Amino acid sequence: MTYEKSIEAFAEAQKHIPGGVNSPVRSFKSVGGNPPFIASAKGSRVTDIDGNEYIDYVGSWGPMILGHSHPKVVEAIQKTAVLGASFGAPTLLETEIAKQIKKMVPSVDSVRMVNSGTEATMSALRLARGYTNRDLVIKFEGCYHGHNDSFLIEAGSGALTFGVPNTPGVTKGTAHDTLTAKFNDLASVQRLFEENNGKIAAVILEPITGNMGVIVPDKEFIEGVRNLCDENQTVLIFDEVMTGFRVAKGCAQEVLGIKPDLTTFGKIIGGGLPVGAYGGKQEIMEMLAPQGPVYQAGTLSGNPLAMAAGLTTLRLLDQAQDFYEDLEISSALLEEGLQNNLKELKFKGVINRVGSMFTLFFTEEESVKSLYDVNKCDTSLFARYFKISLDSGIYLAPSQYEAGFVSAAHTNEDIRKTIEASYSALKQLK
Ligand code: PLP
Repeated sequence: MTYEKSIEAFAEAQKHIPGGVNSPVRSFKSVGGNPPFIASAKGSRVTDIDGNEYIDYVGSWGPMILGHSHPKVVEAIQKTAVLGASFGAPTLLETEIAKQIKKMVPSVDSVRMVNSGTEATMSALRLARGYTNRDLVIKFEGCYHGHNDSFLIEAGSGALTFGVPNTPGVTKGTAHDTLTAKFNDLASVQRLFEENNGKIAAVILEPITGNMGVIVPDKEFIEGVRNLCDENQTVLIFDEVMTGFRVAKGCAQEVLGIKPDLTTFGKIIGGGLPVGAYGGKQEIMEMLAPQGPVYQAGTLSGNPLAMAAGLTTLRLLDQAQDFYEDLEISSALLEEGLQNNLKELKFKGVINRVGSMFTLFFTEEESVKSLYDVNKCDTSLFARYFKISLDSGIYLAPSQYEAGFVSAAHTNEDIRKTIEASYSALKQLK
């Protein structure tokens, strides 16, 4: 493959945009090389400006569960666009999407739309603080909740990839209010509750992580966190920006059988357009302005185009027969093929997968259950594997610390090609 036009485009972009990108991980800095500039995408494929086509497992970092440019989503956006892009006034679409989210996620009594996952988690935390009249929040090492100051402490995703878990620009006061615990380590949470009795407003976590790669919580851990929140009248926030409508129709909370007090959403609920949302228990949600005293607003919140794309996506997920079952079958096929490759070529690795979310960790460990385990991975081996995969037409997330996403548009043929490409990549790395 040649990347001439992308190399030129990246050089030009770097003159005008910090690092040439509008989100750091897109720069490919951690894996080296030049990011392909994408021209278009359809189904399971993305095409760059040099005309190279890739089988895509990034899916815009999660939203594209139906595949790119799904005809029904495109049609909904087009039909809505001609009626006007934004009014800053109530629309019927907003109520419809709220009803759809409530139908699919029983822990949500009411839901407020915002414009990104970052806004959703920021607003949910403010609400939890307003509701409890407390300041402190517990988050978990390696979990990423967007780029709010409060959460850029020991964060995952790009912050982890670039080794800047505690970014300059966050005040000492803010950092002081964020306590960090270890994922899958209940004792670390218990200790923080004991040391800060009566002061913890909220515990926030990715109930199944994606931003340090896919990690599933132990049953004892997640149940223990729920119980600690109940015992301490602390608001439990599940950040389902990534897992929401991805791992199951009823999100990670359905998979785990645990109800949070508040849930944050993003990605899939916008069908590829900018969106976020947070919702949950009525008695907490009614603290929001204009009903209650906790302020949160947005010029473009509930934007008609995003609502139309999101609502169409959610309805398709809700109504399509066996949607999640079929996605499970193709994702399991991929996992099995990748697993066989590792075994046959005698590579040490762990594949964690929940539904269509997966990570292949290059590690000597038997399992990956926390950031501690993730940090033992061979990131330089990953970088080489990533580059060979890209050159053979497989577009993976450019970091060991991320999840891959299978969409409903991935065919068995796509999966077969991906397994073959992975085999040949590993073979070259021997
Ligand atoms: N929360 C989680 C779990 C995420 O994965 C992300 C983004 O990847 C966010 C929050 C932030 O969402 P956004 O990038 O839309 O601000």
